[in-house]
Amino acid sequence: MAFDFPDLPYDYSALEPHIDAQTMEIHYDRHHRAYYNNFVAAVDGSALADQSLEDVCAGVTADTAPAVRNNGGGYYNHIIYWNSMCNGGSSPDSALEAAINSTFGSMDELQKQLTQAGMTRFGSGFAWLIVTGGKLAVTSTANQDNPLMPVADQQGTPLLGLDVWEHAYYLKYQNKRPDYIEQWFNVVDWAKVSGRFAAAAGS
Ligand code: MN
Repeated sequence: MAFDFPDLPYDYSALEPHIDAQTMEIHYDRHHRAYYNNFVAAVDGSALADQSLEDVCAGVTADTAPAVRNNGGGYYNHIIYWNSMCNGGSSPDSALEAAINSTFGSMDELQKQLTQAGMTRFGSGFAWLIVTGGKLAVTSTANQDNPLMPVADQQGTPLLGLDVWEHAYYLKYQNKRPDYIEQWFNVVDWAKVSGRFAAAAGS
C-alpha cells in the first residue's frame, strides 16, 4: 500500500501561544517527515509495505528491526499527536464525557493522570489516553513505541497522544516539561478524541 505523509491539519501558528509556530514547523516538517521517509525506506520491498501502518505497529515485537519500530512508531504517533490538538481546544462529546467521568471521576482527574504519565516518562516518549476492552486508560510509552505495539506496557487503541520528547517543547519551554504539559491542555481537540473513541467502541 502507499504510505502518505499527511498534511498538518492547521497552520504552524494555530496553536500559539501555547505551542509556538517555529516548534511546530520543525517538529512537523523535519522530525515527522524524517520518521516517515525512514519508515518508507525501511519497509520498501518487504511484506510490511503491503500492510497498513496500524498493522505494522500491531506486529512490532522485540525482534522487529529498530528502523521499522522507531520510524513506524514515529510516523504513526505524530499523526495522532497533530490530530489531538486544534486552535483553542475543543470539548468532548457526551459519550466521551460520560466515559471520562465514569473512569476517572472528572476531566480534571484525567488531566492529572495524563500529566503524571507524561512527567514520569523518563527521557523521551508519549503519554496516551487509550481505550482497551471498551474502557478508557492512561498509559505511556518510551521513545516512539505506542500502545498498538505488543511491546507496550499496556496495549489499546490510542485516542489522544501527548508527545513529551524535548523536540516538542524545548524552544519555548526549555527543560520545563510541566509547563508545556499544562499549556498543552489549552489546545487539546477533545472533539477529535471523541471521534476516535466512537470509532473504537467495541474494540
Ligand atoms: Mn515528536
